[in-house]
Amino acid sequence: MEKLEKMRAYFESGATQSYEFRKAQLQKLKAAVVAHEQEIFDAVYKDLRKSKEECYITENGFFLTELSLAINKLNSWMKQESVRTNLLNFPSKSFIVSEPLGVVLIISPWNYPFNLMMTPLVGAIAAGNCVVMKPSELAPATEAVMKKIIESTFDKNYILYVVGDGATVVPELMNNFIFDHVMYTGSTAVGKIIYELAAKNLVPVTLELGGKSPCIVEADADIKVAAKRIAMAKFSNAGQTCVAPDYVLVQQSVKDELINEIKKAIVQFFEVDAQKTEAFGRIINERQFNRLEKYLSNGKILVGGKTDKADLYIEPTLLEINNINDAVMQAEIFGPILPIIGYTEKAAALAILKIHKNPLAFYIFTSSIKNEKKWLQAIPAGGGCVNNVTMHLSNHHLPFGGRGASGTGSYHGKFSFDTFSHKKSVLKTPTWLDPSVKYPPFKGRLGLFKKIFK
Ligand code: NAD
Repeated sequence: MEKLEKMRAYFESGATQSYEFRKAQLQKLKAAVVAHEQEIFDAVYKDLRKSKEECYITENGFFLTELSLAINKLNSWMKQESVRTNLLNFPSKSFIVSEPLGVVLIISPWNYPFNLMMTPLVGAIAAGNCVVMKPSELAPATEAVMKKIIESTFDKNYILYVVGDGATVVPELMNNFIFDHVMYTGSTAVGKIIYELAAKNLVPVTLELGGKSPCIVEADADIKVAAKRIAMAKFSNAGQTCVAPDYVLVQQSVKDELINEIKKAIVQFFEVDAQKTEAFGRIINERQFNRLEKYLSNGKILVGGKTDKADLYIEPTLLEINNINDAVMQAEIFGPILPIIGYTEKAAALAILKIHKNPLAFYIFTSSIKNEKKWLQAIPAGGGCVNNVTMHLSNHHLPFGGRGASGTGSYHGKFSFDTFSHKKSVLKTPTWLDPSVKYPPFKGRLGLFKKIFK
């Protein structure tokens, strides 16, 4: 833990605080990521069989957009914010200072292995912190290229890149060093472990977790458009997306039409045999493949269903489930299997939705404002879309995060900067006015105080 103590000393030297320093680090990071573009494409392809186009949109391109925004906006983000002062404190002035947190830990998963490690880093650097990065060991090629980028760009006292088995490395780090903040992206189960480790030392956390994100399709929706948007979100990255629609609840009267249109969309996106196209990804490892393959027996396969273990391939699949209590409806699917459930009464749909509280995302397809409002109010969720799927996370003006079981805190755009800053409240009072009424003894002033505090 000597390395971490050195980071603490580096942070406390104040070296990371100035605007010039932070901006220079962000610019260096940008240059390094651009210079390693091909290596990033190759690594992500190796880990997840993601095409370079999909990789760019969802990994390094996504990250670069966040990074460029931070470079452009850093000056205004760092400015202290003046706020009004109440009468009690007249003639003081009040302002909020965004203060760096210190030495922070960022832990990321394998499914968007570049994006989910590097995008939080932008906020942490912009906010003036020292950072320990712990990527997922389950995407080893991407883990290696990020290591190269980080270690060739930053001093180890400033940004430290730590690899290894999370179950060993993370507790070792958190039990032996008091971080100023921990940001974890990954499963809800490990999120609980991180939260417990952090609680011991009252370390604040941001938890970006998973869960079953439902999608409602009302009969008044544009079914063709809904089908395309659902299929793209569900089957990109072979369904291994935290905000992918986990299952679809569709009004019975348009169920067949929706199935037909999703089927057409799958062929349009991935051709008749998705296994042969560059556009369709693979399951990360055999363990996940085995877990997913079992779900295929939880219902009638309407579309797809083909698997190839040697290639870690599972075809884009639509499933008519047998029983709402089956395994496929209990846990987050996190693969290219989409259960489609018809409903006639909204109450029946609502009963299913209520089984898994606080999803990371909730999607509604409808052309009616009334329906939209009703569903938005009915289901508390981290975020979501109306007539779209997953795209809310691509707008940096929106905070991205879960609630309850799907997470706590948020990031993206300025929200990332805020996540890694402490909002320090400062009241500045001049000395030229110093009325004695403010000082004890207070006896006899109750009437005055009642006029002020009411
Ligand atoms: P993972 O297994 O790669 O684990 C994530 C990180 O936790 C890794 O760095 C790993 O080393 C570490 N880790 C694993 N076990 C640990 C332990 N016992 N103690 C401490 N650290 C440990 O990834 P995963 O958890 O399988 O990721 C998939 C999940 O992440 C899904 O549930 C998905 O929905 C969720 N996810 C959420 C978001 C989001 O933004 N909310 C984004 C992507 C993925």
